[in-house]
Amino acid sequence: RNVSVHFEDEQLFGLAGSETVRAVDDVSLDVHENDVVALVGESGCGKTTLGKTAIGVQRPTDGNVRYRGQDVWEAKDAKGFLGGGGDVTHSWEEIRRSLQMIHQDPGSSLNSNFTIESILSAPLKKWEPEMSEADRRVRIYGLLEYVGMTPAEDYASRYPHQLSGGEQQRVALIRALLMNSDLILADEAISALDVSLRAEMMDLMLELQEEFDTSYLFISHNLANAKHLTQRAGGRIGIMYLGELVEIGTPEQIIHDPQHPYTKVLLWATSDLQNRSEGVSTPPVRSLDIPEPTDPPSGCRFHTRCLEAREVCTRECPSLDDHDGDGRRTACFRADPDHEYWESEPLDGAETEESA
Ligand code: SF4
Repeated sequence: RNVSVHFEDEQLFGLAGSETVRAVDDVSLDVHENDVVALVGESGCGKTTLGKTAIGVQRPTDGNVRYRGQDVWEAKDAKGFLGGGGDVTHSWEEIRRSLQMIHQDPGSSLNSNFTIESILSAPLKKWEPEMSEADRRVRIYGLLEYVGMTPAEDYASRYPHQLSGGEQQRVALIRALLMNSDLILADEAISALDVSLRAEMMDLMLELQEEFDTSYLFISHNLANAKHLTQRAGGRIGIMYLGELVEIGTPEQIIHDPQHPYTKVLLWATSDLQNRSEGVSTPPVRSLDIPEPTDPPSGCRFHTRCLEAREVCTRECPSLDDHDGDGRRTACFRADPDHEYWESEPLDGAETEESA
């Protein structure tokens, strides 16, 4: 709820002091059981920072993160002072175990000195120390077989460098699921794979989601991938721009009927070259300059690039609201037919009704 994450960015050689990077600003987001939420936006929009904050890896500067009602950082602080979880409904250990992550580059997240069996045994030894070696093996082999890595004994004895990129990512996914985790943060988890393997990996993620009753927070710069993953799962896509969540809705709402002008820019970037040449061949923005997160524009942060911007957008900040009563929320004055936006003057370079 109302999560902000700000960093101090040390300037060159420390001579010019530091600047505050507003990586995430006042974002609220719910992820339910068996849910799939994809966060999409360009590099530096804060989606990874928000994801890490959601799983308790990054402490927010402001706002709070709750797991089943328990404030995540209160649980951590209680552990620090009391050594055992203190007066909390869900302990830090339980939270850490339930919120897992898979990374973009599975090769570097799997320790090359250990076999796949050792890598997958480690979390089970830590979190389920009473489990026998034989039971661990049954569990690991069963999962390897489930994701198509057969014969499992053969794959279990290999080292990460002896697997393909797709196989490494399957192992990373199994490792995240081994603990029956509630939520997996998949941060650009398929971006490093060959295009031909991406759909296969996403389908496997969805199969495992149904099997293990887990949820995904899927981080991507690619709307097409976000659509693939969320559509089948009945999930939602959230669009982030300069640290803020600017639109969130079902894949149908976001892809087929976007309300926020920035969502339209992302859709343009996703469309293939032929569609672009038949439609709009330049990005639908009035400036290609992306503002710095250390100095975000006043009012609506997208107003320096927005083709629809009007004077009011430079001084007022739109809130993320459901304007049509259909569950989709958009932070844009245009989505509100009663807003003073409609009486306000278009900015230089913005489309007037005639030019549009
Ligand atoms: Fe564009 Fe104004 Fe909407 Fe912001 S509030 S996205 S500047 S129209």
